[in-house]
Amino acid sequence: MGLHKAIVFSITPFDTAIKEEGYLLNISSDEIRITASTGAGSFYAIQTLIQLLPVEQQTRLKIPAAAIADEPQYKWRGMHLDCSRHFFSKEEIKKYLDLMALYKFNTFHWHLTDDQGWRIEIKKYPLLTQISSTRKETVIGHPKDTGNKFDRKPYSGYYSQEDIKEIIAYATERHITIVPEIEMPGHSVAALAAYPQYSCTGGPFEPMTIWGVSNEVFCAGNDSTFSFIENILSEVCALFPGKYIHIGGDECPKDRWKTCAKCQARIKKEKLANEAELQSYFTKRIVNYLTAKGKTVIGWDEILEGGLAPGAIVMSWRGTSGGIAAAEQEHYVVMSPGNPCYFDHYQSKKINEEPLAIGGYNPLPAVYDYVPTPKKLSPDKTPYILGAQGNVWTEYIPDFSHVEYMALPRMCALAEALWTDPENKNYKGFIRRLTIQSKLLDAKNVNYDNKFIKKK
Ligand SMILES: [Zn+2]
Repeated sequence: MGLHKAIVFSITPFDTAIKEEGYLLNISSDEIRITASTGAGSFYAIQTLIQLLPVEQQTRLKIPAAAIADEPQYKWRGMHLDCSRHFFSKEEIKKYLDLMALYKFNTFHWHLTDDQGWRIEIKKYPLLTQISSTRKETVIGHPKDTGNKFDRKPYSGYYSQEDIKEIIAYATERHITIVPEIEMPGHSVAALAAYPQYSCTGGPFEPMTIWGVSNEVFCAGNDSTFSFIENILSEVCALFPGKYIHIGGDECPKDRWKTCAKCQARIKKEKLANEAELQSYFTKRIVNYLTAKGKTVIGWDEILEGGLAPGAIVMSWRGTSGGIAAAEQEHYVVMSPGNPCYFDHYQSKKINEEPLAIGGYNPLPAVYDYVPTPKKLSPDKTPYILGAQGNVWTEYIPDFSHVEYMALPRMCALAEALWTDPENKNYKGFIRRLTIQSKLLDAKNVNYDNKFIKKK
């Protein structure tokens, strides 16, 4: 008679009918019943329930009756955020995690180091936060338009290990795994500014003030470079409970290695064919170190060059060919091709009406229609595609409200590409639901791009 209305949770860990992150949600006139085989499944049922609730305050709450049996298509449902080029506060990261949780993302790829700033406290190497976390100024706009003008303001920021523990706990409560990324051997100028002895030339360097790729990289011929990186990774492994560590591996020019006596001696001693194989040697050595610590290594698709380290996962960003090649070799793959997964690209063709972006064009429908498993992949290798993620690089994204604008609503579209059975996808239906959802985003004070809302 409605006197004992309740939300009833039941966890049935041995119910093989409900998959790991799946759930049943039954809403009747008497009760809301949530059944799952894991805590994550119940959590996602609650997110669905939140999405069904009206946002406006009302005296009587009405929820439509429903019987939902739901489960995700992909295991890796990721969002990335570059906190090196621009730094985002602990509270902003938590807001990002809240939005991810609402749309059932389970992996946060945290880009913590790059040429322009080192953002993670490492106790053994205090100069990484004293020197590497600060650049003296930042280039304004696109240099091709502005001719290398600088803002003349120091820019800094880092997360203490206490901050990181707090953020990990916050993510864990939301069933989100954090994958920290420590870039090597390229994109390491900020680290080398503090510890130039681990470069090929000895420096001096300073954290970069412009964007792009530097020729200054870690020396692969120097054993003490590996000790330095392993000591850093040892602290990273102790902090992050998840099984994945991302070691970058992208955009590593070989210029310094070609003329470095130590790097050339290593090539000779290890009987490597060239500098590409030297990077492969570098990666394998780090993979061995991290594997012994029980971690699984992820790298950008460049780690395929010169031979892929056993057990390494490839994140395919230069299109999908790297991902296909890795999956054919029976390596696990996360898809994040520039099109349509780079959310730092423009979402409209009227770029004069948009905030400055790096370039590109990834509109909402392209993200919605994305299918992570490539058609070209051999059918028996499709299980190697773990899923996909949206990447938010922040060279041209100086504040968090701008992050929100670039990420939303594209991450809502990606959420469906990763979760929903393709047979149930429907762009018109998505826009209709997103329009209703936008009230929830308004209530959360999210600065999303609202062009999808049809003007009346
Ligand atoms: Zn060298």
